Amino acid sequence: MPTCLPLVRRRCHACASERLRPSGKFRVNANHKLLDVWLLALCTTCGETAKLTVLERMTVRSIRPDVLDRLHDNDPGLTAELLQDPAVQRRNRIDLDWDNAWRLDTGGSDHPDGDTIDVAVRFAARIPVRPVRLIADGCGLSRAEVERLITEGKVVSAVRLSGKLSGDFTFTLKR
Ligand SMILES: [Zn+2]
Repeated sequence: MPTCLPLVRRRCHACASERLRPSGKFRVNANHKLLDVWLLALCTTCGETAKLTVLERMTVRSIRPDVLDRLHDNDPGLTAELLQDPAVQRRNRIDLDWDNAWRLDTGGSDHPDGDTIDVAVRFAARIPVRPVRLIADGCGLSRAEVERLITEGKVVSAVRLSGKLSGDFTFTLKR
């Protein structure tokens, strides 16, 4: 689950930095009943402001009133939603950096015991993470042990456990 907003991977136009921090503020500009909306982000190095386009020349009536309220209130949840919106990412050619912006919640249960356990992993946001890391942290194993258990067929899943995943999956651990 996310613990804070991710950083935005985009080149600052004023310095060599490639990370922006979402400010949590929107800028709404009305012009003849057409609205432009940007999400403001600040360079993590020099603090220069960058504008990420959210809406372009939309009629006020075409925007849901609750969304308008949330824009005017600088709703933090809306910032999180929009940053993860593939359309917003494509339009602004951005990508998210989730390092140090998420944590694993094991639901309060300690490292599971038993001969065979089935585990469901649910992503509260599409955060690309190595499943080996999640399994190691969640089961109290080292990553090397998890790699070995996968090789030995003692950790099995319908999904590929190498590389990164950002969607829900299940796995079975046999000791
Ligand atoms: Zn900068």
